[in-house]
Amino acid sequence: MAHAPQVLIVGAGPTGLAAGLFLTRAGVPVRIVDAAQQPTATSNALAVNPRTLDLLAPTGVSARVLEQGQPIAGIRIATDGRQVARLCPDWARIAPGRPMTILPQARTETLLAEAFTALGGQVERGLALTALAQDADRVTATLSNGETVTVPLLLGADGAHSAVRHALDLDFPGEAMPMPWHLMDVDIEGAPQDEAWIDFQRVGPVVVLPFSGGTFRLIGFGPDLLTRLPDGWRAGHVHWSSQFTISHRIVPTMAVGRVALAGDAAHIHSPVGGRGMNLGIEDAFVFAACAADVLKGQPDRLADYARLRRSVDADWVRTARSLTRFVADDSLGARLLKRWGPPLAARVPGLVDRAIRRGTGLDHPVRIR
Ligand SMILES: Cc1cc2nc3c(=O)[nH]c(=O)nc-3n(C[C@H](O)[C@H](O)[C@H](O)COP(=O)(O)OP(=O)(O)OC[C@H]3O[C@@H](n4cnc5c(N)ncnc54)[C@H](O)[C@@H]3O)c2cc1C
Repeated sequence: MAHAPQVLIVGAGPTGLAAGLFLTRAGVPVRIVDAAQQPTATSNALAVNPRTLDLLAPTGVSARVLEQGQPIAGIRIATDGRQVARLCPDWARIAPGRPMTILPQARTETLLAEAFTALGGQVERGLALTALAQDADRVTATLSNGETVTVPLLLGADGAHSAVRHALDLDFPGEAMPMPWHLMDVDIEGAPQDEAWIDFQRVGPVVVLPFSGGTFRLIGFGPDLLTRLPDGWRAGHVHWSSQFTISHRIVPTMAVGRVALAGDAAHIHSPVGGRGMNLGIEDAFVFAACAADVLKGQPDRLADYARLRRSVDADWVRTARSLTRFVADDSLGARLLKRWGPPLAARVPGLVDRAIRRGTGLDHPVRIR
């Protein structure tokens, strides 16, 4: 007979799926519900970081990400269409065998779901959390089919508009940046297949990231991105385009009693730096370790989770906000820094690697205690 679930995970995005996978591997029976009938077919996140590949390596997911994804060998920086620097991180030194890899989020989620299913797990779709209550011993969740579920622990991995966060009555303080950003997936001839392109144009940035197979992701703001590609690149079929706005927010605490929050339910920030999904997977890893200990009789470990993760997540929310302001800043000082900073950085031994380690979170360990 199947064991009763010990953790109810609300949300089967990358954070919830990773939490389900880590907990199941630790021998903790879980239940995952997701409001959506189908997994999302479109992708926000693309960059899978070395740290994520490290955490997921024992699950077999990392090997498949590396098989299917596009490693990033370099980053070309330009100002107003003219290349000013080519930054080549020494991945062999920074993260041997685990370069930053571009894979559409929908594929990453499929790989996580397949690994979870292979261990006997199942995502229950079309089932939303509508309410929750807790006492000292258990959490009782109400689902959209009227069912009530009682479990020792609950994880809210239900994204930026988290019903779990609302049910806990937690604030989500921060600020919105109203300016619309554009993204599109488009075939491009003439662009390098293994390098990112970041062009700081006065009308707004254009970032180009390669998928494997000749399709590229364009992200930026300002006028039509397709008209602002470098000379010699020919844009073809547009597969998908969308628009988004950015907010920087974080909850005051990542756990209340027996309920924890992880991923976008707890913190949101601009995609500059490509960290959101990666941070959510880190949250999931630490939550799984702490939750397993709570279930073994160490009740304080959920408070450890909240303490350990909030400082890391808040640090990145602050950094992402500063980076995003810098990207949008058209003052003379910012323009000079965009023009001369990258070529100077490329000349200082080890500086690019240090910046990459900082940007991907490799400058600190993922702590579970
Ligand atoms: C343009 C863009 C580019 C990005 N690029 C990157 C990148 O390169 N790298 C990176 O790391 N991150 C990136 N991100 C961020 C990344 O997409 C998010 O951080 C990530 O999706 C968060 O995952 P999550 O599982 O926490 O939440 P979500 O992906 O939002 O998943 C939440 C899930 O919860 C479900 N749900 C919601 N409410 C309920 C409910 N009441 N009951 C049950 N289920 C519910 C939803 O259906 C959904 O499946 C980018 C974001 C944007 C907008």
